[in-house]
Amino acid sequence: MKTFKIAAIPGDGIGTEVVAAGVEILHEIAKREEGFKFDVDDFDWGGDYYRKHDRMMPEDGRDQIRNHDAILFGSAGHPDIPDHITLWGLRLAICQPFDQYANVRPTRVLPGITSPLRHVNAGEIDWVIVRENSEGEYAGVGGRVHQGSPLEVATDVAMFTRQGVERIMRFAFRLAQTRPRKFLTVVTKSNAQRHAMVMWDEIAAEIASEFPDVTWDKMLVDAMTMRMVAKPQSIDTVVATNLHADVLSDLAAALSGSIGIAPTANLNPERTFPSMFEPIHGSAFDIMGQGIANPVGTFWSSVMLLEHLGEQQAATRLMVAIENVTADARFHTPDLGGTATTREVTDAVINAIRGANV
Ligand code: ATP
Repeated sequence: MKTFKIAAIPGDGIGTEVVAAGVEILHEIAKREEGFKFDVDDFDWGGDYYRKHDRMMPEDGRDQIRNHDAILFGSAGHPDIPDHITLWGLRLAICQPFDQYANVRPTRVLPGITSPLRHVNAGEIDWVIVRENSEGEYAGVGGRVHQGSPLEVATDVAMFTRQGVERIMRFAFRLAQTRPRKFLTVVTKSNAQRHAMVMWDEIAAEIASEFPDVTWDKMLVDAMTMRMVAKPQSIDTVVATNLHADVLSDLAAALSGSIGIAPTANLNPERTFPSMFEPIHGSAFDIMGQGIANPVGTFWSSVMLLEHLGEQQAATRLMVAIENVTADARFHTPDLGGTATTREVTDAVINAIRGANV
C-alpha cells in the first residue's frame, strides 16, 4: 500500500473550511480505491500565525514540507494585514522557491450550473489556462525611493527569461497536445510591451515548430477578454504571463458560474519539489465561519492532485462524483443561488464517491 504524504495548509478565512472538507474527501477516495492512502500533516500558517510570529510561515517552513508528495492549500489573506505581505509571505514564498512554474487552471461549466453567459450551456466552455508562475510581472523586482515626498519613484520590473518562457510554452503546447482539439492560444501584449512580449511571441513560434500537430493562434490580452465572453467555444488551451493569466482566469472562473468552483494546480513538472493545489478563490471573509463556502473548487483541485500523483482512476471517480453533485440543485451553495451548506455538499460528494463506478 502506497502512502502519499500531503501537507495541508488551510491558511485564512474560508480556506480553513474548504481544506478541511478537501482532506475528508481525499481520505474517502483513498478508502474507495485500493493501493494507496493519505498521511496528512496540517500546518497552521497564515494570518493568525503572522499576528503571533510576525511572519506568515516559520523560517524553516519550506524544509518542513519539501519532502511531502503534494500540498493542499486554502487561501492566504487577512483583513488586518496588507495583501502583499500575505501573498509574498506564504503563497509566493512556496510557489517560487519550489519552482512551481506552471499554474494550470481548468474551466468548465459543470452539470447543473448556469454560466452568466446566456448562450452557453454546460460543456460548452472547456478551457485550460496555463499561467506562467515564476517570473514576469511577479518577479518582485523594483523598489521605491523618496517615499512620501513629491519626488517619490516606484518601479515594478517584469522579468522574462528565455528559459522561463521556453519552459512554459513547451508545457502549454504539450498540454494542448493531450487535449482532443490540440489547440493553443498564446496570449500576448506585444503591441504595447515591445520588448519582453515580443520575445514571448518569438519563443512561442519557435516552440510551436516542435509540435506540428498542435494548431495555435495569438491574441492580445484585451481582445482575449472579449473572445472569452463573445466566442467562448472558440477557445481550448491558453497560455499567458503571470499577470495576464491571473486576470483572465478570474474572468474564466466567473464565466463558469462561480469563483467557488474553480481549481488550480501550481506544478513543478520536473518533480524536484512538491506541487501545490488550491481553489482559485481567496479568503472570502464576508462568508467565513458561516459554513456556506462552496468546497467544489477545493474538491476539483483534489482531482488535479490525484492526477499529479498518478492516481488517474481515483481522479476520474472524484470528478464524476463532483459532477453528480453539482447536477443536483439541492447541493448548490449560496454563491450558486442555492441554500446548501459546505457540510451538505461534502456529504453529498462522499455519498457520490461511494456510489460512483468508473
Ligand atoms: P482575498 O483577498 O483573500 O483574495 P477576497 O474576499 O478579496 O479574498 P475572494 O475570497 O475570492 O476574494 O471572494 C470574492 C467573492 O466571492 C466574495 O464575495 C466571496 O464571498 C465569494 N466567494 C469566494 N469563494 C467562495 C466560495 N468558495 N464559496 C462561496 N463564495 C465564495
